[in-house]
Amino acid sequence: MDYLKAAASTDIHRAINTIADEYQGILSSGVFGFSILGKPLEYITFGVGKETHIFVGTHHGSEHITASLLIKFSADIADAAQNGRKLAGFDVSNIRSYRQLVIIPMLNPDGADIEQGALPADHFIFPRLLSMNPHGRDFTHWQANARGVDLNHNYDAGFYECKKLEQKLGIFSGGPTRFGGQYPESEPEVQAMCDLTRFFVPRLKTATALHTQGEEIYYGYGEKIPDGAKMLADMFSRASQYAVSKPEGIASYGGYKDWVTDKFAIPSFTIECGRGVNPLPPSDFYKIYEKILPILLICASF
Ligand SMILES: [Zn+2]
Repeated sequence: MDYLKAAASTDIHRAINTIADEYQGILSSGVFGFSILGKPLEYITFGVGKETHIFVGTHHGSEHITASLLIKFSADIADAAQNGRKLAGFDVSNIRSYRQLVIIPMLNPDGADIEQGALPADHFIFPRLLSMNPHGRDFTHWQANARGVDLNHNYDAGFYECKKLEQKLGIFSGGPTRFGGQYPESEPEVQAMCDLTRFFVPRLKTATALHTQGEEIYYGYGEKIPDGAKMLADMFSRASQYAVSKPEGIASYGGYKDWVTDKFAIPSFTIECGRGVNPLPPSDFYKIYEKILPILLICASF
């Protein structure tokens, strides 16, 4: 995969198949749900251990660089395992034996395609998208799914507090960002993510969502801080120079991290990768990857 090019959902689909083929027996892949527009929601797994770590990218359309970051991470960890090498100083064979990584590069394929203009202009959803978009035909900053729901506000964690804040901001219906939907888990992408997470919960050790941007690490939900969450966030920060921060306002409810923390008391993180204006340019890819690779490996080794 060319990491220096933006990736639409078909590119990510192809990349997942390519690395699953190339590292057969080390990586596996599958589908755990479908987007509103029927695109497969795909996962990659690595490792045969009993302790699971979930990594998910691209909740937000304009943050599709996170899908490429997770594809490269999957390929690199598989390659190191195949060749008996360490990865950035980490013993990958240990991770492979004792952990299972479940990696979802792109949770919002429709949003990523809308943002990149990869959805054909004659698609049946297009008139509805135009009616939801205050920027006309410019979808450059589109974060939501195809129904205009911001997936990272659709989880059942302070959902109704989030709703009140939305309304204060003048958001009452679908749009490019911040509308949390009619009720928690109303969106198939979030439903699938919740089902997948619930399936692994008895053995789930951490769950991490990659977003862009800001070079920040978030953990906890309100006053709830699962055992180990702060320690891990501090370790991530030391390894990456990213700052440990506390979300404020509307960003502090309804997200994947909030839901995992609230419902299961399992350490869960939002990593705001890179710095700049979304969508971050693909030319930032290697610079960002270098910073987040140790975060992913610390997490996977926990
Ligand atoms: Zn985001």
